[in-house]
Amino acid sequence: MTEKKKKSVCVFCGAQNKVPRIHLDMGKELGKRMAKNNISLVYGGGDCGIMGAVANAVMASGGWVTGVFPESLRNIENEHQNLSKIIIVDTMHTRKELMYNKSDMFVILPGGFGTMDEMFEILTWKQLLLHNKPIVIFNHEGYWDHLIALMENIIDKGFAMMGTKELYDVVTSLDELMEYMHNHPKAGETGGLAPVLVN
Ligand code: AMP
Repeated sequence: MTEKKKKSVCVFCGAQNKVPRIHLDMGKELGKRMAKNNISLVYGGGDCGIMGAVANAVMASGGWVTGVFPESLRNIENEHQNLSKIIIVDTMHTRKELMYNKSDMFVILPGGFGTMDEMFEILTWKQLLLHNKPIVIFNHEGYWDHLIALMENIIDKGFAMMGTKELYDVVTSLDELMEYMHNHPKAGETGGLAPVLVN
């Protein structure tokens, strides 16, 4: 398959294997559906956890996967050996920048601190008007309930502007997520509307 695609979606998710099976299975199903719908995957390039499950499923279903893996992570995680394209970069920061530049939107699946770091960085970049790409949190099986409640509390208490609520969306099912990927206008097609950040 060539890198001809409708959309490139960056997926942030956990790298741990010993997590509830239901989340790993969802990752597999997501990967399968992305490939079938000609949506290519951009991710951190690892071979484990939900990220490995999504990447393996996209590859097995004939889709396109670009992994961006930092040299510095080699003694902690393994890079995936069977992707359409693996880009080895020098640092975590270069990795993030490249992943962000190569994607039309960002999807957050269940994950740990690394996933949250990536999510908040992309969210705060949007807050700073550094990009205007869609960000969607998949609250699979209520995994992110507490985080979403915390984010709303932060906004309600005024520690983040009311407009911050417009920076991200939340979906609760795979069908909803697929529809979001299909129907959400690509960045740049939104008319470049800047979110209102001042209360
Ligand atoms: P985790 O959600 O902790 O399982 O991590 C998921 C992925 O996030 C891992 O592959 C890490 O390489 C990546 N990641 C990105 N930024 C960080 C960070 N600041 N600390 C740890 N992991 C990170």
